[in-house]
This record gives sequence, C-alpha cells and structure tokens, in this order.
Amino acid sequence: MDAGDGNLTTATAVHNGGVSYWWRARGGFPARRPSLPGPMHADVCIVGAGFTGLWTAYYLRRADPSLRVVVLEAAFAGFGASGRNGGWLTSTLPGSRARYARGPGGRAAVLELQRQLQQTVHEVTRVCAAEGIDADIARGGELSVATTPAQHERLRAELAADRDWGLTEEDVRYLGAAELAGRVRITGGLGALYSPHCARVQPAKLVTGLARAVERAGAEIYEATPVTRIVPRHPAPGAGGSGAARACTVFGDVTAPFVLRATEGYTARLPGQRRQLLPMNSSMIVTAPLDEAGWQAIGWSGRETVGDGAHVYMYAQRTADDRIAIGGRGIPYRYASGVDHRGVTQPEAVATLGGILHALFPATARARIDHAWCGVLGVPRDWCATVTADPASGLGWAGGYTGHGVAAANLAGHTLADLVAGTPTARTALPWVGHRTRRWEPEPLRWAGVHGLYALYRAADHAETGGSARTSALARVGDRISGIPR
Ligand SMILES: Cc1cc2nc3c(=O)[nH]c(=O)nc-3n(C[C@H](O)[C@H](O)[C@H](O)COP(=O)(O)OP(=O)(O)OC[C@H]3O[C@@H](n4cnc5c(N)ncnc54)[C@H](O)[C@@H]3O)c2cc1C
Repeated sequence: MDAGDGNLTTATAVHNGGVSYWWRARGGFPARRPSLPGPMHADVCIVGAGFTGLWTAYYLRRADPSLRVVVLEAAFAGFGASGRNGGWLTSTLPGSRARYARGPGGRAAVLELQRQLQQTVHEVTRVCAAEGIDADIARGGELSVATTPAQHERLRAELAADRDWGLTEEDVRYLGAAELAGRVRITGGLGALYSPHCARVQPAKLVTGLARAVERAGAEIYEATPVTRIVPRHPAPGAGGSGAARACTVFGDVTAPFVLRATEGYTARLPGQRRQLLPMNSSMIVTAPLDEAGWQAIGWSGRETVGDGAHVYMYAQRTADDRIAIGGRGIPYRYASGVDHRGVTQPEAVATLGGILHALFPATARARIDHAWCGVLGVPRDWCATVTADPASGLGWAGGYTGHGVAAANLAGHTLADLVAGTPTARTALPWVGHRTRRWEPEPLRWAGVHGLYALYRAADHAETGGSARTSALARVGDRISGIPR
C-alpha cells in the first residue's frame, strides 16, 4: 500500500481515504517494519502503535533502558486515529470535571489534571525538539468560536465554569467579535474563547517521528501483527502460574508481566471488549492550498486551531502548506462497532463538511476539496478517559479520550509507564487513574441511541440558527440521554 491507496471519486475529484491526507503530505507511508518473528518474552508488551502505545514505550525505556519493551501493531505505526486526526495538540480535558471530582482527590485533583494536560503541550514540543521530530508544530493556541446567539451563551457559561474550576485569564479569555476578526474572519463570528494551551501539529509527521524515537530509545515495534487475544496472568504468581500475561498473535504469543492495551477506537474488536469503548467516527476534508487573496480575506496568520460551539461541532486548522483542514462528526457510528476501510469516508460527510467550510470561510468557495478521510476515536459510556495498570492481572490500558487524545495520550502514556514501574508520581495520583465506567448498551440499542442522539443534535443546531440565545431543548434531551458532559 502506498499513500495513493485511496478512492478517487471522479465526480468531485476528491481523493478519499488512503488512511489520511497527512500521510500523502509527508510523502507516503514509511517503510514497513517486520512482523513479530515468533513467540517471545518481554518485560512489557504494548498492543497498538498510536500515540498512547508509543508514548508509553518511549517513557518506559527512557526511565529504565534495561526493560525489554515490545510494541505489537495490527497495521503500521500511526495507522489509527493518531495518523488521521485534526492536529489539535490541545489541553482540553477529556471528560467531565464533575465526574472526575467524585474521586478521592476531589476538585483539586481535577485542576491538577488540567494543569498537567497544559504542561503536556510543552512536553510534546520539548520531545520533538530533543528528538529532531519535525511535526509542523505551531504554538498558536485555540479558538472556540460562537456563530449563533445560543453558542455565544454557551461560551459565556463555559468561561464562567472554567473560572469556577480554577482557570485564570492566562488560561482562557473571551474575545469579542472584532478581536476574533483580527485573528480569523469567520462568517457570523460573534465572539470566541481563546486558550494559549494548544498547538497545531501534522499528525502523521508526529507519529512517524515518535515511532523512530521509540526505536532509538531501544523498544521494538512489530507491524502487521494483530493481537487476537489478551490474557491476564493466570493463575496468579505464587499459585503455580508463570506470572506472565499474554498477547496472542498468529505468529506466536508475547508473554510479559504487563500487557498494555493501547487500541482506543479499535478496542471493541478484541474479545471481551465489545462494549468498553464506542468507536465514534470523525471525518475530515482538506482544501487545496489557498491563494494569497484567500488568506488576505481570512487572516489566520496566528495558526490557532479553530472550532465552533455547535452540538455537532467542527474543528479546523491552517496547515503548514496553507490549506484548511476541517473535520466533524460525519456518520457518527457504524453498526456493531464497525470501523472504516483505510479511512474512506461517506460522500455525504464530504458534502456536509464542504458546506460548513464554505459557510464559515466564503473565500474557500473557489478552492478545490483535495482529500477526505475518516477515523475512529474511543468513547467510554461516561465520556471520561481512563489510565489503568493492575499488577495482579498484569493488564493495563489507557484511552477513551473522546476526541481530545493527541496531548492526552502523551500524559496517559507517561502515567502508564509510571504505573508499570510502581513508582508513585504526581501523574499516578491524577483522577483518571483507575477510573471505571460502565459498558455501552448492546446492539441494536447502541446504534439506535447514537444515531438518534446525533439526529437530535443536528436538529438542535438547525433550530439555534433561528437567533434565540437559548440552547435548544432538543440538545438538552440529547445531553440527558448521552451523558455528554457540558
Ligand atoms: C478524524 C479524527 C480527528 C481527531 N482530531 C483530534 C484532534 O484534533 N485533537 C485531539 O486531541 N484528538 C483528536 N482525535 C482523537 C485522537 O486522534 C485519538 O484520541 C488518539 O490519536 C488516540 O491515540 P491511540 O494511540 O490511543 O489510538 P490510535 O491512534 O487509534 O492507535 C491504536 C492503534 O492500535 C492498533 N490496533 C488496534 N487493534 C489492534 C490489535 N488487535 N492488535 C494490534 N494493534 C491493534 C491500530 O491499528 C492503531 O494503530 C481525532 C480522531 C479522529 C479519528
């Protein structure tokens, strides 16, 4: 497979799939690593070579170069969401502050998680500089824009909540319409929240560079090696057992005191995990490079990441090669936790995102949509992420970042490495450590629920274009059903 391995939809000339545009932009996929050569024993086995698995391996080896760390990847490093995302290295907290605050650390621990996520933006930038990873990082911050009075009201409520939870003017501040337009001109932009704790990245460049840094640190990565089953250590050590957990593959098993699952949106495909994390779909399009007149009209010289406050929200970045990459929900969920085929997305999703792009940035009307793709991210039933490692079973996992995983996976991976080492740190005291969530409903309830929810949210967004400053009652019903934190 090369980076051109996507569908070319002749009617629209949109390159669709090929995993993502980011791979094409970096000149194709890197050379494939070998598969697992046969059964082996390791100190730590990691399943999945996205940001979570790779950062975990990186910090494990940096902390203890004597450890044998083996990463098993079904396709290739960065094949999943880590090589397809919107490139927001954002400190947005993945989940509900109120739910995390129910843990023993209370509200103070939630603020600590928020602060550590902010530090993570610096940490990823630091490692990239130290390891010579060119990931097109631009530290422009993040703009959450309101384009309807109802969105504007929600922005103000969000700001008040941020202050209540301890965030200051240095963390997030309100911009009026004129100030927003001084940064980015967005049709109907009424105001925005600005946070400096975000950077734009090129995901495929970041994940490729990170995989190489992991290998330089001494970990082994085996590609085209799907794990078919993860088995806890059994019977327990001391009761006649080997003391090792197992990751099973067709090439043989890897045994290790710890097997860590880092499969986020793909988790449901592993035996016994079908209802743990819902694979939520997200779709993206990217324009051809805009001309100088286009950028004169839009501005955006600060390279902020830009999102809106719709219930079915959009997220966008100005790429290093002067395109606009914009994403949104598309078809939210495939029956029975299905995933896409190498990123090929539905034509309806391309049309919807194109409509949003042209409405928000009219200067893009003449710009060709160059490439479209999609991917899955992991959503837990309570929309709160988890980082867990259990020495008794030898199993650990991290994920469920609900679409905010680029920075969070760095912190989660670092934390998993600490948990495996058994050394208490500030990270191991964070409220997402050991967080448990109930399972998703069985099918067909799961499919009907998610599709019903997004029908409600779409209707709510449409109703809110009517000009009322009140959040649509349809969205409130949706929030109640889904448990999505606001
Ligand atoms: C279109 C899109 C846009 C997004 N935009 C953003 C954004 O702008 N900012 C943000 O913070 N987050 C964003 N996210 C979410 C973010 O990308 C993810 O949360 C994050 O990349 C998850 O990393 P991960 O390593 O946990 O999972 P993944 O990157 O999905 O990696 C999991 C890996 O596990 C492998 N795997 C799966 N099953 C097995 C198995 N059985 N055996 C071996 N290997 C296996 C997969 O092939 C894959 O490579 C977006 C997601 C998508 C899909």
